Amino acid sequence: MAKQEDVFKKIVSHAKEYGFVFPSSEIYDGLGAVYDYAQNGVELKNNIKRYWWEAMTLLHENIVGIDSAIFMHPTIWKASGHVDAFNDPLIDNRDSKKRYRADVLIEDEIAKIEEKMNKECEKAAKRFGDKFDEAMFRQTNPRVLENQKKRDELHARYEKAMNDNDLAELKQIIVDYEIVDPVSGTKNWTDVRQFNLMFKTQMGSSADSTMDVYLRPETAQGIFVNFLNVQKTGRMRIPFGIAQIGKAFRNEIVARQFIFRMREFEQMEMQFFVRPGEELKWFEFWRETRLRWHKALGLGDEKYRFHDHEKLAHYANAATDIEFKMPFGFKEVEGIHSRTDFDLSQHAKYSGKKIQYFDAELNESYTPYVIETSIGVDRMFLSVMCSSYEDQQLEGGDTRVVLHLPKALAPIKCAILPLVRKDGMPEKAHEIMNMLKFDFACYYEDKDTVGKRYRRQDAIGTPYCITVDGQTLEDNTVTLRDRDTMQQQRVAIADLPAIISQECSLNNVLRKLM
Ligand code: ATP
Repeated sequence: MAKQEDVFKKIVSHAKEYGFVFPSSEIYDGLGAVYDYAQNGVELKNNIKRYWWEAMTLLHENIVGIDSAIFMHPTIWKASGHVDAFNDPLIDNRDSKKRYRADVLIEDEIAKIEEKMNKECEKAAKRFGDKFDEAMFRQTNPRVLENQKKRDELHARYEKAMNDNDLAELKQIIVDYEIVDPVSGTKNWTDVRQFNLMFKTQMGSSADSTMDVYLRPETAQGIFVNFLNVQKTGRMRIPFGIAQIGKAFRNEIVARQFIFRMREFEQMEMQFFVRPGEELKWFEFWRETRLRWHKALGLGDEKYRFHDHEKLAHYANAATDIEFKMPFGFKEVEGIHSRTDFDLSQHAKYSGKKIQYFDAELNESYTPYVIETSIGVDRMFLSVMCSSYEDQQLEGGDTRVVLHLPKALAPIKCAILPLVRKDGMPEKAHEIMNMLKFDFACYYEDKDTVGKRYRRQDAIGTPYCITVDGQTLEDNTVTLRDRDTMQQQRVAIADLPAIISQECSLNNVLRKLM
């Protein structure tokens, strides 16, 4: 079986070759961790956003959307805690001149020790066959026990250093565990420093009137500061939610894994405002509702897991991540957090405005509590690409690369292909396209053999190819080829809209959520 790293490399190059994602500013050798979505990528991305937006705003009558500005008053980021605490600990290697996150270096070291233990178990499992008892082996094997002790000690020190924000201790751990730079192989490290992840710029035209502003590192604050505006103008009654999709910016120290960690990315966030005391009930509701949203796409239920946070931010009273099985392991795609009244109270304090809700049923005013659901569009895009990609061996030794994208998300729903470029077939194909294009994203192609055209559509995940041939001109039927099974059936042109809509409509996915 191909190594997962190799599979991931193939997916990255496929994304470029077939017009999904390009490195930004490529003719100038690129810009670190910034990417552009190409002609197919933007369609897939828009479909993901539409699925999220409609699941939020159409299916929940108490959720409305907004689109707030990227620039916001700088005090907002003071109130939210981002100016003081949105930091990562960084460390430089003097030989390679490379910069790393100190916490990531230590986490990688922990992962290495865990890997050693796992290898030890795998070897023993092979040796003992069916008789192998892994739990017993882990409790008794001296090498595993020694590594377990080492791992637990390192983990405890690391966790304490992170909790105490103790940068000197983080450096000491790197020294004590002799962690080397993966590039230079040396231990020539600088001290660990805090690095704020927000991008800063100036607003204003003259030197004395300029003001430092930030590119928002999350979309959530645009919702909190509009809480009163939306509640009053929308006459919203608690519980209710405000949804937003938009760009966010973080000056990530180490950007890795393609579009998984970018410096400019997009978030889909929904803040749900509830009565104090009811937040944990709503937290459970959103935890389940969001997982159902993911699973309804059919990427494979086993690819998701929750990662409940044991260590909570000081303002949160429950938090979980939905992780997806990427080729490089289970990784966070979405966070669901119970944030208490922290955000609204902070903005009340810093703005001097009263931000409260009068609950007519209870006949009292209070600061609502908040459940946040926050998902990265780009990470969602990556999870869809990774689970859809297949390098398929066909009967007879042939191969093809196919993207089994959820049909409702596919950039193009059907390709319309005249068998040859003559005998009235192109005209008939255009006629079919003119009928379908109001409801479905269609693509017309008449170059190359039909076989080659099928392969190109497989590679971008087009669910259906419609071929117009001699018979079409006689009886108004076409062949309809299915991307996944490659089966072809003869169908009447008049039946095409119903067939394509049945399989490709977003409505059918949304209905699974109810
Ligand atoms: P991580 O721990 O991976 O840095 P985070 O916990 O800081 O992520 P949140 O602040 O909870 O992330 O942001 C919510 C969502 O936004 C994440 O679940 C992720 O999908 C997305 N996201 C965050 N940072 C990035 C990034 N640099 N590039 C792409 N997506 C991101």
